[in-house]
Amino acid sequence: SFIIFNGDITDRQNAKVDIEDRGYQFGDGIYEVVRIYNGHPFALTAHIERFFESAAKIQMDISYSKEKIESLIYALLDKEGKSTASLYLQYSRGISVRNHVIPKNINGTLVGYLLDGERPVALMENGVSAIIAADTRWLHCDIKSISLLGNILAKSKAVEAGCTEAILHRDQIVTEGSSTNIWIVQDGELITHPANNLILNGITRQQLIMIATQHDMPYTEKSFTVTELLHADEVFLTSTTLEIVPITIIDGKKIGNGKPGAITKELQKLFTLSIEAECGL
Ligand code: PLP
Repeated sequence: SFIIFNGDITDRQNAKVDIEDRGYQFGDGIYEVVRIYNGHPFALTAHIERFFESAAKIQMDISYSKEKIESLIYALLDKEGKSTASLYLQYSRGISVRNHVIPKNINGTLVGYLLDGERPVALMENGVSAIIAADTRWLHCDIKSISLLGNILAKSKAVEAGCTEAILHRDQIVTEGSSTNIWIVQDGELITHPANNLILNGITRQQLIMIATQHDMPYTEKSFTVTELLHADEVFLTSTTLEIVPITIIDGKKIGNGKPGAITKELQKLFTLSIEAECGL
């Protein structure tokens, strides 16, 4: 298979990353995941913007322009010819003798490739269960960092408990999921954590806010507690790969009647329409 590697498209076999690449040694890098529908990347501009914003937040200059990265992505899609997939794009700070201090004037390592994956139709339709877990991550969760230990520990705990996602909280305030944003519906209002340093401002989250605005659906970006979560009318998660998935059981307790809620379903429909409009499903 083909990959994006440092400004070129190459066969995966040809790409070698140095043992002193700071992405490998320190988790010193950032990434994006972009959904490919019908061979087209969805919300690509927003993803590339966030890629550069994440880099800027860790004082990292990406040595390729946004236009160059975009053209590499289209070249990869062309070569691979896949219809439904996810693009993984990563930029690490590059190769330097091991030292915590950020090195000056080095070029980073750019890697991108496609992961297989159909839309999670069954999960979207039936909903999933989740656990509640302490958010033990650092205080820069707005950066889409490749350092994901806190996230992977939480996700694995959820899966060990037979669930799909871990809903994280700090002192009883729900932040987000281990790889998703979390929303509740209360008395017809959509509520999700404000986009600050405690969550990743998901592109799907941003798309949903646009959809809610366009359709006069009331929403608020404000914190809510674990108790409010458990007593919400509806709960759902959003992410690039999972889109909008109802959460029907949390820590073994049913949310509402334990079935995907009406507003969640309405949002799923509207979101699918926006994918169709952009990618022509
Ligand atoms: N929050 C975290 C911690 C994530 O890792 C992700 C995506 O991977 C999200 C939220 C959702 O972001 P997006 O909608 O941009 O995929």
